[in-house]
Amino acid sequence: MWSRDLPSEASSVTVIKDASDRYFASFVVEVNPVLLPDNGRSIGIDLGITDFATFDTGEKIKSPKPLKRRLKKLRKAQRKLSCTNKGSKRRERARKRVAKVHAKIYDVRKDFLHKLSTRIIRENQTIVLEDLAVSNMVKNRKLSRAISDLGWRSFRTMLEAKSAMYGRDFRVISRWEPTSQRCSCCGEIGGKKELLVREWTCLFCDAIHDRDINAAVNIEVAGGLPETINGRGGSRKTTTKVAASCEASTISLVKQLSLFH
Ligand SMILES: [Zn+2]
Repeated sequence: MWSRDLPSEASSVTVIKDASDRYFASFVVEVNPVLLPDNGRSIGIDLGITDFATFDTGEKIKSPKPLKRRLKKLRKAQRKLSCTNKGSKRRERARKRVAKVHAKIYDVRKDFLHKLSTRIIRENQTIVLEDLAVSNMVKNRKLSRAISDLGWRSFRTMLEAKSAMYGRDFRVISRWEPTSQRCSCCGEIGGKKELLVREWTCLFCDAIHDRDINAAVNIEVAGGLPETINGRGGSRKTTTKVAASCEASTISLVKQLSLFH
């Protein structure tokens, strides 16, 4: 039974069984990018822990709630597993239980990330994200749990792949850009702000900022857009990297398709 037609003849099929006994069929197919009409809109996205994403428009996206609830379930199942004896039937049952909760969490997160990335790609021609250097942040143990649960990396991969697929411009700005420190109204850079500081007032122009919205606006500006609200974007030197363009190679498109299963 097909839930979706393949865009072309598959050159190979792989069947995978995961730890919770679910079967997946993976196809390799060649596709041409389906270009969406350029609507001239752009978006700056700040990824965070309090909110999963904040847009430069001020919109904030929360992580899906079921995730938090299931994480408790997962910890309980893992505790049970650690109490069983090696090679026992109880251990096998406990192992399956852990795998099942894992699979469910993975599905909920993937669904959330797919829906959000699709919406962003549909609504915007240019998508600007900050290079997060997730591996560095994951070394910080306090942050690590939260970050690996959020799926920032998968989100970036999805945005990159879908941008290539639909002819959108996906840009990543350097993580050395002072997006949290710079005032998006006057452009002055204030001091370093701890993660706990959610709102601050610019000492130069008295503007009151929500930390994440201000960062998202700076991310959008740093994306090197020709016209910005305050006109700073054109002259500012930025280190932009166009990570994907519409001339995507077959190889990357094959990689993308595996995301759409
Ligand atoms: Zn200011």
